Amino acid sequence: MEKVIIFSAPSGSGKSSIINNLLNGKLPLEFSISATSRKPRGEEQDGKEYYFFSREEFKQRIADDEFLEWEEVYAGCFYGTLKTELERIWMKEKVVLFDVDVIGGLNIKKIFGDKALAIFVEPPSIEVLRARLNKRATDTTEKIEERIAKAEFELGFAKEFDVIIVNENLSLAQKEAEQLIKKFIED
Ligand code: 5GP
Repeated sequence: MEKVIIFSAPSGSGKSSIINNLLNGKLPLEFSISATSRKPRGEEQDGKEYYFFSREEFKQRIADDEFLEWEEVYAGCFYGTLKTELERIWMKEKVVLFDVDVIGGLNIKKIFGDKALAIFVEPPSIEVLRARLNKRATDTTEKIEERIAKAEFELGFAKEFDVIIVNENLSLAQKEAEQLIKKFIED
């Protein structure tokens, strides 16, 4: 079985910056584009950040067993990995990189075992997290508080991951991620 990399983190922990840096680097990684029933945010494009489905379409695909895993990450908002994503990436002989919520991450780790490196990105503190989410300003205050409540819940699962990267300094966190993944791919 081919190798996979899993990234999970509370939203606002800097996970996306770390992932984007890795995808622009030299390692043979390819992003697993998840499906979601939430609406596109900002500049997001269908088939780039996500495959955007209506809730009805998403539920139909669950019924048709098209997902490797799926979660109702936020009330009424579904997210999931289509099985076809794995085939698309492995065909290119690349290592799959997942950006999923904590529960999804642990589920994928269970499926792939030693073939998966599960990385948890931790913000230095909840205060730093709140400040980062406010600065991003793409969500309403209510949405931000919802994300913080979820973050507090998710931090409790950090220990179940193979490694934790504390994102105190972004460029150091990026280097750490790159080294860990390089070693995992080569081993
Ligand atoms: P956002 O709405 O900020 O793009 O994502 C919200 C959360 O959903 C993030 O924690 C993200 O990692 C997670 N997520 C994205 N795709 C998937 C997926 O395919 N499965 C699961 N379980 N979570 C996902």
